[in-house]
Amino acid sequence: TTAIVWFRRDLRLADNPALVAATQGYDRVIPLYIHAPHEEGEWAPGAASRWWLHHSLASLDTGLKHHRGALQVVAASTSAPADGGGSLGALRAAIKATGATAVYFNLLYDPLIRKRDEKVRKALEADGLDVASFNASLWCNPWETSTKEGEPYRVFTPFWRNLRTRIDEQGPLDTPAPLHLGTVPKSDDLDSLALLPTLDWAKGFDEWTPGEEGAQEMLSLFADDAVGHYDTGRDLPARHGTSRLSPHLHFGEISPRQVADRLRAHFARRKNAPDLEPYLRQLGWREFGHHLLWHFPDTPKKNFNKKFDAFRWAKRDAHALRRWKQGKTGIPIVDAGMRELWATGWMHNRVRMLVASLLTKNLRQHWVLGEKWFWDTLVDADLANNAMGWQWVAGSGADASPYFRIFNPVTQSEKFDAEGAYIRRWVPELRDAPGRLVHAPWEDAAFLKRSGYPSPIVDLKSSREDALTAYQKARGAP
Ligand code: FAD
Repeated sequence: TTAIVWFRRDLRLADNPALVAATQGYDRVIPLYIHAPHEEGEWAPGAASRWWLHHSLASLDTGLKHHRGALQVVAASTSAPADGGGSLGALRAAIKATGATAVYFNLLYDPLIRKRDEKVRKALEADGLDVASFNASLWCNPWETSTKEGEPYRVFTPFWRNLRTRIDEQGPLDTPAPLHLGTVPKSDDLDSLALLPTLDWAKGFDEWTPGEEGAQEMLSLFADDAVGHYDTGRDLPARHGTSRLSPHLHFGEISPRQVADRLRAHFARRKNAPDLEPYLRQLGWREFGHHLLWHFPDTPKKNFNKKFDAFRWAKRDAHALRRWKQGKTGIPIVDAGMRELWATGWMHNRVRMLVASLLTKNLRQHWVLGEKWFWDTLVDADLANNAMGWQWVAGSGADASPYFRIFNPVTQSEKFDAEGAYIRRWVPELRDAPGRLVHAPWEDAAFLKRSGYPSPIVDLKSSREDALTAYQKARGAP
């Protein structure tokens, strides 16, 4: 008997519930990846995500080769209906060619993919197939947590309190062994999917190791080094004070269950074990993002808080937007972040908040513009987390930072990058800036001229006041 395991963003062999169930129920498993970005509409993977995906698929293939198999890759037809026709066609072809009687897969929660999957599931069930789906990427499916009144959560802390009670008992699943793997007669070559950039802008991405093994290595580094001071270290962008697991989690190369389990095991016999709660709570934000996206599927495009619809954004400013993207705003901490993003496909969380605040508050550009740029350039671009992050900073989101709390990038920079090490790393023009000038180089006109660094694109003080006025107007205040 044969089952197809339809791999998507669950690119790992360990703790993979669909794979485990398929091997338990069937003699032979076909590991299949279907490339169908057109079925994800405007949220098809961006350029940085495609780079990651390529390498992650290659790594999964290597993992399967250790079990004397290979990842079967099929490019879905783009002429079939975009709401799932391509994936369904690819699955039906694989079923016909292999005699499979089952299709097992792990769930995704993005609105278009959800709809597509339901369509595919119904069609395959009507064909008489055994179809089953599993939760591989979250501690809890988004519909499994609700308030006492049975409503979705809109505030993080009570959501987390509820979720926290269900985490400890969840252990990861082992890689099934032995794995009896099969093939499809017409598997495409990974390179033919053309996921890698044609221009060589991704050179700086080499610091990453996509794939299951890379995820485990990253987790080991974090466990050995940073998790002990996570609560304070996580806010300092010059350090690797966070786990940097976000792209690995996004592509399902590792699960929150595995992360928590390994961290607990790592410290189980140590006397001064660090408090893991602040880190687990941060993973809880990821679950919250998915909870929100599930219950409120238009949050990637529409204000979560409808009252915010009255807010007047400034006219779209192509010039300012370009300088923001290029890391040439003249605000050092913001430019450091935007350049880190471009060079490595990742940006530190604290700095994500600062660059988003400058765009949405000082420049008053719509948060969707920033969300889109992040979508294309982040290796961890994730519909749930990105939408939540942007709406949180813009002040339009669930449990958001209030609009009137506008970050001052200079004081933030002085606080979290006191020596300017992060800025100096990413903004070479300011490498030798003396003292406070690294945070605010415009305070010495002669130095600014010499450095070749741009003047600020916007006056921080007056733009802050303008933003607050626009906000007061939206609230109907005099
Ligand atoms: P750690 O601090 O080590 O945290 C561990 C994990 O918890 C992360 O890998 C991530 O999965 C999750 N997590 C941590 N913080 C958050 C958070 N605030 N919201 C949701 N999940 C969180 N995260 C993404 O994964 N993809 C995105 O597209 C994304 N876009 C963002 C956009 C903006 C404007 C902002 C402010 C934040 C965004 N985040 C996004 C959240 C956060 O910045 C990243 O998850 C974090 O920086 C990843 O680094 P890390 O793995 O070292 O995090």
